[in-house]
Amino acid sequence: MPGSLQSKLLNNKIAESDFIVMPEVGIEPTSPYGHASLSRARLPVPPLWLECEKYNQVGGDGQVTGYQRGPRILYTISMHEARLYEKLPDGKVHCHLCGHRCIIPLGEFGVCQVRENRDGTLVTLVYGCAISQQVDPVEKKPLYHFLPGSLAFSVATVGCNMQCQWCQNWQIAQASRTHGLMETRHTSPEELVANARANRSHSIAYTYTEPTIFFEYAYDTARLAHAAGIANLYITNGYMTGEMLDLIHPYLDAANVDLKSFRQRTYTRYTGAGLQPVLDSLKKIKDLGIWLEVTTLIVPGVNDDPAELTDMAAFIAGELGTDTPWHLSRFFPHYHMPDTPPTPPSILRTAFEIGKRAGLQYVYLGNVAGETHTDCPGCGQTLIRRSGYTILTNRLANGCCPACGQAVSGVWEFSLIGK
Ligand code: SF4
Repeated sequence: MPGSLQSKLLNNKIAESDFIVMPEVGIEPTSPYGHASLSRARLPVPPLWLECEKYNQVGGDGQVTGYQRGPRILYTISMHEARLYEKLPDGKVHCHLCGHRCIIPLGEFGVCQVRENRDGTLVTLVYGCAISQQVDPVEKKPLYHFLPGSLAFSVATVGCNMQCQWCQNWQIAQASRTHGLMETRHTSPEELVANARANRSHSIAYTYTEPTIFFEYAYDTARLAHAAGIANLYITNGYMTGEMLDLIHPYLDAANVDLKSFRQRTYTRYTGAGLQPVLDSLKKIKDLGIWLEVTTLIVPGVNDDPAELTDMAAFIAGELGTDTPWHLSRFFPHYHMPDTPPTPPSILRTAFEIGKRAGLQYVYLGNVAGETHTDCPGCGQTLIRRSGYTILTNRLANGCCPACGQAVSGVWEFSLIGK
């Protein structure tokens, strides 16, 4: 259609006058993510993303104190049909990507707010929209039994299918709910893999927000990553469907799943989601042969009851295996729970003992100062010592204890990756 906005876009001849002028949208003025911004708008050729240049004003203490928009408008199109959905006769669509299994009327969004029923087609609004790209030690994920000391190129888009009251990354995970503000620059899967290689990363971690809701982007990237000899890691709340795991598992090498509680009522009240789909995902990930570690953030008054922790540890040991690492993280006041105190060390110690009593071989404390160790389950010798995310010593020999020869579960060699 000559002269249309669409043809101008395709021919790279779009002018600033073709755009609706976006109003200033609220952003946390001290947001650490305030380095670039992007706002979503309804325009003649949906979906269209406007990106306005922005310059941070950084105070003397290094904090971002404000920002201003520059005059140049960039643009990118994010129109990507979703996978794992079905069209219903009345124009609705039924999404089968996560445990919500939303039935979405015309023009509406799913619970995650990043998938939309557009004229009877389900589209993802975050394909190519990496809001965060960062290189982390794999220990930060946390994954302690997967290529220790290696680098994980970490990627996220905005959005999440849960609404955890203690969310540590709410500025991006809940962005599509709180103010509709998106901060991103289009990055293709090819560019992500190239960025991972340039940063000498052994893996790409889909993390910070929930990778389930940017599945199409993660899936295309994961396939390219494997072809380039790079592993793929999901850091996830586990609220995905078995259908999604069936699709991605050939390319998924490891997962850390948050098991936030062992009580349905806690999931309902504090996350807006359910427990059973998470338990199903944990078992399926294990059955598919994906390396699995589990994390539980211990929140005082929410999930620190010893009876609940005992049930949780029994599930991990009985259903996932006693060699499944369990990370017990300390809570700090955050997001909608500013008045809840940090997890007392005594509760963390109790949880640790509960895990060990259940027979779990590898229980770790997170968000605490000091060293963590991986000890041989055979003779008890310390094999890996960490300080924070740094590996101090690693005595494993071909994945085994050098003293007694006991094999230690995990992925220790890069050559073991690939299926
Ligand atoms: S990913 Fe989950 S929350 Fe989002 S539309 Fe699909 S079923 Fe709903």
